[in-house]
Amino acid sequence: MSRFLSREAGRLAPYTPGEQPTDAQYIKLNTNESPFPPSPKVVKAISRAELLKLDLYPDPTCGTLHRAIAAYYGLKPENVLAANGSDEVLAFAFRAFCGEGKGVAYADITYGFYKSQAALFGLNATVIPLREDFTLNVDDYMDFPGTIVIANPNAPTGMTVPRTDIQRLLEANPNRVVIVDEAYVDFGTESCVPMIFRYDNLLVVQTMSKSRSLAGGRLGFALGQPELIADLNRVKYSFNPYNINRLSMEAGAAAMADKAYFDACCASICRTRAWTAGELENLGFTVLPSQSNFLFAKSDRIGGEELYRTLKKNGILVRWFDSDRIRDYVRITVGSMEQMEALIDALTALLEAL
Ligand code: PMP
Repeated sequence: MSRFLSREAGRLAPYTPGEQPTDAQYIKLNTNESPFPPSPKVVKAISRAELLKLDLYPDPTCGTLHRAIAAYYGLKPENVLAANGSDEVLAFAFRAFCGEGKGVAYADITYGFYKSQAALFGLNATVIPLREDFTLNVDDYMDFPGTIVIANPNAPTGMTVPRTDIQRLLEANPNRVVIVDEAYVDFGTESCVPMIFRYDNLLVVQTMSKSRSLAGGRLGFALGQPELIADLNRVKYSFNPYNINRLSMEAGAAAMADKAYFDACCASICRTRAWTAGELENLGFTVLPSQSNFLFAKSDRIGGEELYRTLKKNGILVRWFDSDRIRDYVRITVGSMEQMEALIDALTALLEAL
């Protein structure tokens, strides 16, 4: 660090993203991307005409994209704010709904970026442990006065919180915002989106990085009542009004419109997830019940770190977290059937060699 670093920046807790190797050809199962390319309609939407407009700023109101997202969910564009990945949406929400005297609460085992955001904005963060079996007990949050953020399904466990539990939280204190991060909701979890009409303290955050095969496009969005969305816009227009580039805007609108492709991709991931979980269990792994596009698994024959390193040597990247309670586990993205077959073959050989 330089001698110029501010005291505030010195207190940051930067997030470590999963490896994005450029040196070798890996079977990449470490950052929960989709194994499928973007919809053919997305590819068509990035026309030469659109490329030639890159000399002009994009629409700061994201009109086309907001309309496409709203149409998919039967909402109004005023219910939507899109941003440069759901990480940016979360940043806007943390800035908008937390601050002096209003902290944020999240689980001990959850998406690591919440901690980074809390540090970035100097927030008072309350970390609430999941139960021993990694389920989330909403009763532990009932008395918390600040903003609550819950990943549903959770990462890296893949486990869900029932919608009725979220409803109880929303009703227990209508004067606090509950952010439900639904990055992985499309792989089998009941979404809270229909509840935004009823609760003005509910903000749902989703991403196009997983189920819509657009991780490289960097697109996420928030859904909520117009007042909450206006608050997010206040932050956006104080930070980066042109936060979504022209090409991603077109790509995102086209992806939202191609429901058939989206449904087919999600269904395929869910089938492959069930097959992979079964095979892992046959190999003696404990596999948490995942409703996402990844599996969190451990073997009592090999530790998480060793498993991660050995798989990497064999050309397969998974994610291992050097964190309390989950060191024995690895997180495995559900890829294509061929990728998962290669993973199971590698694991079979690896366990036989022990
Ligand atoms: N929320 C959760 C729970 C995630 O796992 C991720 C992906 N790392 C994100 C949000 C952010 O996704 P993106 O910024 O690609 O939309």
